[in-house]
Amino acid sequence: MIIRRCFFLVCCAAVSLSLSAQQVDSLFVRRIFDEALVNGHSYQRLGELCKTIGHRLSGSAQAEKGVAWALDMLRSYRFDSVYTQDVIVPVWERSETEALWLRSKALSTQLRNKHKPADYLCEAFEELPLKPAARYRLQAVALGGSVGTSGEVKGKIIVVNSKAELDSLGKAGRIKGAFVLFNRSFDERLINTFAAYGSCVGQRVNGASEAARFGAAAVLVRSMTNRCDLHAHTGVMIYDDSVPRIPAMAVASAIANLLERLQQEDPDLELAMQLGCRTLPDRPSHNVIAATRGAVFPNRIIAFGGHFDSWDQGEGAHDDGAGCMHAFEALRILKALNYQPRHTLRCVFWMNEENGLRGAKLYAREAQRIGETHVAALESDRGGFTPRGFGVDTLIRKKLLPYSYLLEPYGIATLEPGGGGADIGPLKSVDPSVALLSFLPDPQRYFDVHHAETDVFENVNRRELELGAASVAVMVVLLDQLLD
Ligand SMILES: [Zn+2]
Repeated sequence: MIIRRCFFLVCCAAVSLSLSAQQVDSLFVRRIFDEALVNGHSYQRLGELCKTIGHRLSGSAQAEKGVAWALDMLRSYRFDSVYTQDVIVPVWERSETEALWLRSKALSTQLRNKHKPADYLCEAFEELPLKPAARYRLQAVALGGSVGTSGEVKGKIIVVNSKAELDSLGKAGRIKGAFVLFNRSFDERLINTFAAYGSCVGQRVNGASEAARFGAAAVLVRSMTNRCDLHAHTGVMIYDDSVPRIPAMAVASAIANLLERLQQEDPDLELAMQLGCRTLPDRPSHNVIAATRGAVFPNRIIAFGGHFDSWDQGEGAHDDGAGCMHAFEALRILKALNYQPRHTLRCVFWMNEENGLRGAKLYAREAQRIGETHVAALESDRGGFTPRGFGVDTLIRKKLLPYSYLLEPYGIATLEPGGGGADIGPLKSVDPSVALLSFLPDPQRYFDVHHAETDVFENVNRRELELGAASVAVMVVLLDQLLD
């Protein structure tokens, strides 16, 4: 009798598992991957976005051209709804007047005597087009949000690797009138490059105001990358209103090495900077949304997407054109396979993640205002590289873990505790019950191109992008089946 009851219970458990996951068996997962890899649209669409629009800095004419392209593109697939949300975004513009120069007798003498300054430059040495000259133009770009200069600003360089170093030099009066180079590099021991980025990015975001407190004339920040090369990586910086606003540039990592070494051997080294960038009044822009209506819970939403804006270096291909194309392609694949979702599935291209997060904040506010319930939100903002898995909210991780066997054949079974992302964070603030997930591709190459002129379509691999789109589609289906 006892044995028979146990058998009955086991049968019930097996039936309920297969019922709750009726459309998430290994055959359906296989069909999702086949559709992405054989009939995929993500790579072609990303190419169109990168090559016909290019970069999409918030508030720029290109960003709005991109929005129009996205609307047309999504409408052509006849999803249940395609629409925009109006959002007011900040506007910061780079200028053609943008340069950093170095004047150094020591470097000039070395070059005249044909000494290679190789040890400054690691593998980038051969690329550095230095000839003996009165002054050298260095590979540097203004940080997003920086003020411009009136004419040229000049100063000696002070190199710091930590806040403590800045404070002690500042208290000794060494910072006044100087160019401060924040030169803390990525910790190469960290396997997850996002952790290395996280421990360095504060010097980019807050460095200018920290140095301005001690009277610095300008700030330079080592580019946020594992590479040693001649590409400068921009990114957002934020001023503290209690101190004067000083101009800030990112310098290529090889240039940061060069400056650090030269500063030790050349007391007369001088830098000059001229920037014409400026902040303009806010402008209207848009989030772009496409959705497939849920058959069982039409008012309960699973949102997935990336940010549509990008920095103005490169084409915003990995950051975050790839994330937007993952989301669009996931929605397309499920429609192509005639998948009938239980929840409303919503692909979202958020605007203004890079320098304001206005699109994400508006999206969450609107959801709250009209009483929409999000059961889950997934963000893809780590590039179009080989998928490895997902960061998963602890709210739902236990529910997902029994299905990791479906993900294993595709190498995407990593389900790290704790998902999230800049664009979906505001949803959690208005409703703590929404489960957040992040798509996790391989992180080793993201910071090679992040916010740099090298973030272009040519540096996206077709198969890697398609595998990512299929992975997002599979996770969306799992969420749709497992959540109420
Ligand atoms: Zn991004």
